[in-house]
Amino acid sequence: MRKISDWGNYPVIEAEVNGFDTTEQLKRQLEQPGEVIAFGNGRSYGDASLQHKILLTRRFSKFLSFDATTGELCCQAGVLLAEILDVFVPRGWFLPVTPGTKLITVGGAIAADVHGKNHHVDGSFGQHIQSMEVMRNDGSVVTCSPTENAEFFNVTVGGMGLSGIILNATFRLRKIETAYIKEETVRASNLEEIMDGFEASDNWTYSVAWIDCLAKGDSLGRSILMRGEHASETDLIEQAQRAKPLAAKKGLKLGVPIDFPNFALNPLSMKAFNCAYYNKTRPGTHTNVVDYNSFFYPLDAVDNWNRIYGKRGFTQYQFVIPKEAGREGMRKILTRITESGLGSFLAVLKLFGEQDSFMSFPMAGYTLALDFPISVKAMELFKELDAMVADYGGRLYLAKDSRMDAAMFEKTYPNADEFRQAIAMLNEGETKFASLQSKRIGITG
Ligand SMILES: Cc1cc2nc3c(=O)[nH]c(=O)nc-3n(C[C@H](O)[C@H](O)[C@H](O)COP(=O)(O)OP(=O)(O)OC[C@H]3O[C@@H](n4cnc5c(N)ncnc54)[C@H](O)[C@@H]3O)c2cc1C
Repeated sequence: MRKISDWGNYPVIEAEVNGFDTTEQLKRQLEQPGEVIAFGNGRSYGDASLQHKILLTRRFSKFLSFDATTGELCCQAGVLLAEILDVFVPRGWFLPVTPGTKLITVGGAIAADVHGKNHHVDGSFGQHIQSMEVMRNDGSVVTCSPTENAEFFNVTVGGMGLSGIILNATFRLRKIETAYIKEETVRASNLEEIMDGFEASDNWTYSVAWIDCLAKGDSLGRSILMRGEHASETDLIEQAQRAKPLAAKKGLKLGVPIDFPNFALNPLSMKAFNCAYYNKTRPGTHTNVVDYNSFFYPLDAVDNWNRIYGKRGFTQYQFVIPKEAGREGMRKILTRITESGLGSFLAVLKLFGEQDSFMSFPMAGYTLALDFPISVKAMELFKELDAMVADYGGRLYLAKDSRMDAAMFEKTYPNADEFRQAIAMLNEGETKFASLQSKRIGITG
């Protein structure tokens, strides 16, 4: 038994933790009595990959095939996105979709159906999966794709590990000329301006905004919009970039050596940080060529940044509300958050495109993600925010969640009931795959 948690360090549990190198080993582990859940790299924030028996997938991490003409890659599910980038960026290929950290596994990317800054153009990670193999509770292996065993495929993409253990997946990488991004940053002085900015950014491949949730009144929603495109060789300015266009820049790695005391994150220190960050970007529009790590993964440059929130841990409240409800809904929810004074150290705003998947989080609308240190007050606030999100027809992201109740899940995920039935059927009466989250929100008993 050992102590284990996901990225938010809340909850922390004692669990029996086992890895596997081969499908035979995995099969033998599934034959043991008791419920289990797959654990990729623990970058979900709450309890989605926690259970008293955990199957670590990281050792199951081989590249199986690559077609250099089409970019089609097949790899085992324990491979990290960072490992794919290390091998394939120098050869001129990039991921079709990437979240704000590259330290997640392919299995975790499929099970949470992760989204990136290009959701409005390219959809979610699961929409790029051409086929995959999944081990079920009885040790049998199902090959599935959008056309083969499609129902099983649909409950596995975004299914949070409850249909089985994803073994491998095939998807297509995107051709790139350089390891750089042509970035444009635009300072927006309030919510209206940032939403106008997003709505005028449809033709950009990547767009995201950092939003200062502590700003109030006329400045409510003041933000920095970042838009980007993969740079071509002719876009590169510096001699060093031109000499090695596909060489990724290795940034300075910083670390957070200890858990921060809880008082370090009081509203004053957060306000000072947010103010400094906002003022770092001058008013107007600025263009720059930056390496892909700085554009996509600024947080990965700080090891263990999650420890900054102290021993009590933290959670991320990420919701989406439909585009029609966006302006009014976002204004009301943001106002409530700023009024609460609980603030958020980091808040990310993004406009999603259409998505019609069975269990995935994205829908055409605005999504906001905010970090909160765990406290009784924050938990009370989340209840209020939940009611607002549900009233506007929105929902919460399971990959970030550690506290939503079953009623909220039922109300906001239209296929919740069908998903529950599908998982019960796959388990044939006896649950094998379950997480603390799936029990809390009533998917498994
Ligand atoms: C700094 C940071 C930024 C992030 N930014 C984004 C973002 O921009 N967009 C976004 O969508 N997400 C984002 N995330 C969330 C993260 O991408 C997801 O939570 C992802 O699922 C984590 O993958 P993991 O490999 O760490 O899996 P874990 O967190 O260990 O597990 C996540 C889920 O996947 C299941 N799972 C893992 N492997 C398998 C497998 N082989 N078979 C079956 N099920 C499996 C687990 O059971 C669990 O339900 C961010 C997280 C962090 C820490």
